[in-house]
Amino acid sequence: MIDTPLKVLYILGSGRNGSTVLADALGTAPGMENVGEIHWIWDRGAGENRPCGCGEPFADCVFWQGVLSDIAAVAPQPAAERAKVRYATLEGLAPLRLLGRRWANRIRPRQREYLELTRRLYLATAQAAEAEVIVDSSKRPVYGQAITRLEDLDVHIVHLVRDARAVAFSWRRKKRNPDRPDGGYMARYPAWKSAVGWAVWNAMGELLRWRRKDRFLQVRYEDFIRDPQGVLESIGEFIGLEATAALSGVQELMLSSNHSISGNPSKFEKGAIKLREDREWAASMEAKDFWTTTLLTWPLLLRYRYPLGKGH
Ligand SMILES: [Zn+2]
Repeated sequence: MIDTPLKVLYILGSGRNGSTVLADALGTAPGMENVGEIHWIWDRGAGENRPCGCGEPFADCVFWQGVLSDIAAVAPQPAAERAKVRYATLEGLAPLRLLGRRWANRIRPRQREYLELTRRLYLATAQAAEAEVIVDSSKRPVYGQAITRLEDLDVHIVHLVRDARAVAFSWRRKKRNPDRPDGGYMARYPAWKSAVGWAVWNAMGELLRWRRKDRFLQVRYEDFIRDPQGVLESIGEFIGLEATAALSGVQELMLSSNHSISGNPSKFEKGAIKLREDREWAASMEAKDFWTTTLLTWPLLLRYRYPLGKGH
């Protein structure tokens, strides 16, 4: 048993919001362990054997195999995958749960099994990594809310936002993904679809902020790129741990190997990484995509202080 709850730094937000690089940066700080999007461990990890951040296929990664054998008594892999699937069917209640409706938040037996398994997973992972803080970039709002209710965990949420137009541009791009079992490409979506996803996930993040004010920090990806040192310091202060060790120079991150699950293929980049804001979207995005995205996301764009026009 542990004396103090384990700190989990949960990065929440839409897809393509830069969470992989932020988690990578945080993971280089002493005491912090970046585990990537850990909620995928049962399907993309144990199920599909996708490569871990260390480069090994999941089944050959000594770190995760050690963690899984620690919790094997409660979670043989097929049972764990089934528990996750059953849990996921309940995500339809998400908005009501985030609003705090009591009946929607009642823990059902089907959920209990998955939540208990998840609690053990975080504790075993922290023990294997000898970490004080687990950095989890799973991003999903409902999963984030679920883990805030687990005993033995002290979950701090970093809501990472990025300009919806940059996100939509990224979803339109053709990008190879060595993480996929078929060695194929990352999913691509039309602008309207990524804009709706962005709006829904960030709105759910806002609901969670309302519920968890004391454990919530909002960060703009663009601010992190412009001033990584400053943003890492403020996250460190938020979680009560120094988080400044990741930088080797101005806007240069020194990334070492980690055991991150899923995430953007950039997770495989190691060594000195230059942080620069990708502004290609502002020049190359089709006007139709730009305005569709702006129209579908403008209330939150304004809230996050993004100018609505193109010239910024
Ligand atoms: Zn690994």
